[in-house]
Amino acid sequence: MSGMLLGSEDLFAMAMRHSAINCELPASALSRVAETADDGTLQVDLAVEVGDADQILVSGKVDGILALQCQRCLEPVKVPVSIDVKLAVAASESAPAPAGYEQVTGDARTLLLRDLLEDDILLALPPVPMHLDPADCGELAALMNDYRLTESADEDAAGEGPTEDGDQKRHPFAILKKLQSD
Ligand SMILES: [Zn+2]
Repeated sequence: MSGMLLGSEDLFAMAMRHSAINCELPASALSRVAETADDGTLQVDLAVEVGDADQILVSGKVDGILALQCQRCLEPVKVPVSIDVKLAVAASESAPAPAGYEQVTGDARTLLLRDLLEDDILLALPPVPMHLDPADCGELAALMNDYRLTESADEDAAGEGPTEDGDQKRHPFAILKKLQSD
């Protein structure tokens, strides 16, 4: 089953025709996710079924890796996404969701699985994506860091106080020189 199906069939029809949904979902197919993700593909592995009280139950996993923009260096950073999906879609809140399921109010005959999943995926993304190890960041982050260090070095010089840690590990100009020699 291709990922295209996620965009063409409403949730109710999907529950009637398929019990298992296994497909790849590229970030580019999710318009709101694509605003922050440059690239990446998620694996969708879900059961979609008709539950009691006209609910559509969606359960399973969505996982994969999305490439987001690191907010420290503006280069792509790979962010793992792993979502346990347990949603009960019903037209009204009068039918309580089964234990462990999150209630979603909506019309399963017009709702697309893709849109339903996109909400969960957006919630799972870090608000400020960054390389976990600053050493993985691109050159821009080093330049920005140099700028900050230079600023604080100027402040230290103005105070003319003796530095308490004598080893002076912060050498902003040494980093700059290294960058220039690269
Ligand atoms: Zn970075």
